[in-house]
Amino acid sequence: SDHQLTYPISPETMDWSPYYPAFVLNVAPGGTQTLSKDVEVADIGCGFGGLLVALAPKLPDTLLLGMEIRSQVTEYVQERIKALRAQNADAHLYQNAACLRANTMKFLPNFFRKYQLLKIFLCFPDPHFKARKHKARIVSATLNSEYAYVVRPGGIIYTITDVEDLHNWMVQHFDSHPSFQRVPEDEQEADECVSVMRTETEEGKKVERNKGKKFVALFRRLEDPEW
Ligand code: SAM
Repeated sequence: SDHQLTYPISPETMDWSPYYPAFVLNVAPGGTQTLSKDVEVADIGCGFGGLLVALAPKLPDTLLLGMEIRSQVTEYVQERIKALRAQNADAHLYQNAACLRANTMKFLPNFFRKYQLLKIFLCFPDPHFKARKHKARIVSATLNSEYAYVVRPGGIIYTITDVEDLHNWMVQHFDSHPSFQRVPEDEQEADECVSVMRTETEEGKKVERNKGKKFVALFRRLEDPEW
């Protein structure tokens, strides 16, 4: 249950300074602290943070946020990032990665403004196999509209799973959403985030060990039609 979870009332009221202290801009006495950049990449259901820590040095000028519902897993990722920041202090690495606890099925627009994000990763989401559990899946018509709201036109949703039925479900739901278009395979394979997603997430490694298949699909956020 998530009754102990706290959420900002709106993106404007979210204080990111504890998450990205190296990016704090002005510290007006008594005023709110602002960052020199906004979070632009979200890893939804980030688990143990493998994708985050692999991407952080590759995208040093972009703020990455892992969002995870399990409190102990969130704390683990926070400690992992803290340790990496300390070990790489001279190189200023990993300052751009952070993790917070959230139920992303409920409050995504509380954290991000319209068009704020460039990329969302949905890596090995829980499959919820039974039909009556499908409403718990993190891809649905309603949730895709929330992803469309927070991702700017041109931005990309990345999905990967070892469950073929879930892959088909995600493709069907994004394909049928007017704000998204599937990214062609050649473009997909040329994207460096795709290989990171295949090899660096904890689930991706587990599937590799079990010699399982991995299904990847990317979706581009389209321009909104002019009315
Ligand atoms: N993405 C990671 C990876 O690829 O290794 C973890 C995959 S794991 C199978 C799915 C993760 O999503 C779990 O850590 C789970 O706690 C998290 N999760 C499930 N529902 C969530 C929600 N509504 N909001 C945030 N995280 C969620």
